Amino acid sequence: MAAVPAQPAQGNEYQFWTDPVLCEETRARLEHFRSLGWLPPNFKPKTLQGIAVVERYWRRFCVHVEEGDYVDYLLREEHAIYMNFFDWMFRTSREKVLQSYDEYWRRLCQYYELFAHRRVSEDAHKQIRRYLEGRFPAERKIPRRTKDKNTLDVDVFCVLYRHHWVHSRFFSHGSLIVQFATVQLWSAITGTRPGVLVPQGTTLPDHSTLGNRKRPHAFESDLPNYVSLKELPDSVCYRDIELFYLKDPQSKRDVLCAIIEFRNLKGRPEGADGTKFFMHGDYQLAYCPIAQIISYAFRDGAFVNTHLTPELIWRLRVPKHNSSLPLRWRSEVLNTPLLRRLERTPYGYELHRSLPMAYESSRQALKELGRDARFEDDIGHYNYRRWTANEVNKNFTSQERQRVLGQSGDAVFEKHYQSQFIGRDLQHVVLLRPPQDGLVRFAGSMLRKRDPNAPSELTDTHKRAICQHPDILQLRREMRELAAEMRCLAGGVKKAQTSYPHLYQRHDNVKKEIAKLRKKLATDTREAARKDHFQNAPVLEVDRQIKQLLGESDDVSDAENSGDESWELPIPNYIFPERARLVENFYGPNAENFDEDKLLARRIQVTKDMVALLRLCEPSRRGNRVNWNIDGEEDLLEQPEKSPSPPDDILKCPTDICIICCGTSRQSASNPAPRKFSSKRQDSLRRHLINMHLAHVRDGISCNWEACRNIPRFADVTKFLAHASTAHSYDINIKLCHLDQVSQIKCNKISSAEVSSESENRQRTETPASSVDLEMSNIDSRLLESRPVTIAQSLTVVPDTQISASSVESTMSDSHPISDEVPIRRSTRIRAKLADLTPVTVARQSTREMRSSPEYCKADKQLNRAKPEVERSGNSDVSVKKPLPRRSKRLRSQ
Ligand SMILES: [Zn+2]
Ligand SMILES: [Zn+2]
Repeated sequence: MAAVPAQPAQGNEYQFWTDPVLCEETRARLEHFRSLGWLPPNFKPKTLQGIAVVERYWRRFCVHVEEGDYVDYLLREEHAIYMNFFDWMFRTSREKVLQSYDEYWRRLCQYYELFAHRRVSEDAHKQIRRYLEGRFPAERKIPRRTKDKNTLDVDVFCVLYRHHWVHSRFFSHGSLIVQFATVQLWSAITGTRPGVLVPQGTTLPDHSTLGNRKRPHAFESDLPNYVSLKELPDSVCYRDIELFYLKDPQSKRDVLCAIIEFRNLKGRPEGADGTKFFMHGDYQLAYCPIAQIISYAFRDGAFVNTHLTPELIWRLRVPKHNSSLPLRWRSEVLNTPLLRRLERTPYGYELHRSLPMAYESSRQALKELGRDARFEDDIGHYNYRRWTANEVNKNFTSQERQRVLGQSGDAVFEKHYQSQFIGRDLQHVVLLRPPQDGLVRFAGSMLRKRDPNAPSELTDTHKRAICQHPDILQLRREMRELAAEMRCLAGGVKKAQTSYPHLYQRHDNVKKEIAKLRKKLATDTREAARKDHFQNAPVLEVDRQIKQLLGESDDVSDAENSGDESWELPIPNYIFPERARLVENFYGPNAENFDEDKLLARRIQVTKDMVALLRLCEPSRRGNRVNWNIDGEEDLLEQPEKSPSPPDDILKCPTDICIICCGTSRQSASNPAPRKFSSKRQDSLRRHLINMHLAHVRDGISCNWEACRNIPRFADVTKFLAHASTAHSYDINIKLCHLDQVSQIKCNKISSAEVSSESENRQRTETPASSVDLEMSNIDSRLLESRPVTIAQSLTVVPDTQISASSVESTMSDSHPISDEVPIRRSTRIRAKLADLTPVTVARQSTREMRSSPEYCKADKQLNRAKPEVERSGNSDVSVKKPLPRRSKRLRSQ
């Protein structure tokens, strides 16, 4: 925890009570308080966003029914008017699930409160509730639920978590790889709301849709401004973590433990106390939350004891006369979040110094992780919370559960969290059949619907079909014609840039449109193929077996012969040896050797590797992407060379590689060699240098070569290029005219919807763009300003997709129904992983017994509950616009 300077006893403290307060004075102040009037609610940005949506609907509705005074109309409190409003909404807007209308009604009530200075009357409220629960959905066939809300179980968690460490290529920066593991681990251990770990709703509105939405009327929003009262980011900072050694009577080593306080809890005022969770070092290193925390601390230089190293930290002891020994944080880092986002710098992606990791990147990563691990159902943060909630419910009292989940009563848990699946063998209990607990547990697990053969990447046939899509063909024709016209008029496409800018611009736009369309088609195709597989593969399998049983088929089943091995995906080759070693120590053959000395050695190695990995970033995978463009307009980059010949001159930089990538590569032996560009295509190297590096120069650039460490920062790019030319004999003929565009790129880059490379996709969730201002980016900036807003702006900024997205968010944070029981299946492969979930002080051998003991598998009476759902529509709509960070893998060249 924070190093709080002890308060000295203050003898000369000011004695306030000695001031005389006059009666008149106090009475006069009453007028002051009267003048304050009604205090408006300080809605949080997420709520404001929701109200803003309803506000727009309401004002449009009033225009439509020709009611000039929309406030008066709202305040009439006639329930028929509100019913009419929802009916109009249903008839004029995109299809929504029932839960969205519930959300709109809640927001409309808040909007009402702003004008009425009181709540909507109980009577009107009840009427609308009844309407929305009964008549409204029944008459319009509005679905009450759209998909299952799964809980995880320990088996699924272990599969996912392992898949993340071993297979996932979603993140290329080491810090995000480890941070995402931490998000999963903390979510699992604490069941905390995801928004507590990483701030929600920091995604910027999608500007690409601005042009498509034109609104006829302008209005001024009536919403109040959000005033932030908190000083700390919405994420766990060093000050929230108390790190200390505890004496372990059962071991000769003391255990490093942490107490983490989760602030920013829902329903509590900002700055109020949070909930504290205890975590301890674990002998299964993959699942050791402490190893991750101290790795971040080493990365950030957070320890007061600057000479502490990964070798030493695991060997410190609690002094005899004490029962614990805390490790203190440096005061400079107290308010720094541990989980942070990336920012784009001239040298590539680097960890931001203060801004927390974005919720969206974690959400997207989790979804991709589930799909990549071949689960049929998507995985979300709330699956973790529901899982913990159900486990806690099995083992703890109701009061303890409320405490853990931060809920004030049983109602929310029972209604939205409790598993729908009855995880007990009722045939055993009622009919007295032999118990089949193992079967029951597996039946309720998401693993049942996992299929390692499910497609996760596009096939060549898919890619060809996309290239032959009529819209793509049409756009390509258009682009060809424009190019031909420019060649005819100006003698070349490049030359037309100055002489025929309108043609060049149109050409450029069409090109971007093609990229966008391809991206969308690729996502749709991939998702359709996945759904199709899960739907049809079982049917084919049943047919196959029927044929076989009837003796009509002579092919011997592969699946039966290959056995369980086929379940394991091949372990990929890692770019960084650190990650390879981590995977080896987490999941390799020696991972279960708990001999004290060997464990200590592995612990130290894991910590060292993790600290190193936190600073590494894989190079852009752009070169691996499939080349869609047959015209050859795009870069044809060559694969990186495995081992470049060491240069003769230590300072000379070859002109077929990028000088900055080269500098980065030489900074650490773990970094791969820079990509070699074909000597014939020096223009693509130039483009790379400008777009990947020089365009991101903000205040000067320094040479990142080791030898130039002491050369001061260059004020501008030209000076840097001069240095490259003289000191490194590196001249790739970058003309000044290209550099002029740099500043332009700098401004456009971020809002550009045409970000194409994988790393740039990530930029949209992890860059300074979304981090400009945490509070501001939560919400349309105009809602935060005091000046009037115009409808043209505010309407476009929150498009329909966001309406449902925001309603999803808030329903999610309120409550979540669950669908599955949480079964525990024992299998040899997973057993070791299970061990992590039992306290370290438990004797190691007893772990297995514990897991299989009846109390552990005790299930509760569960209630089946049907719940309306919103997630599907929200997610699928939003996902179309979301970046496809794994695209390069899926589309890897044929
Ligand atoms: Zn480079
Ligand atoms: Zn240099």
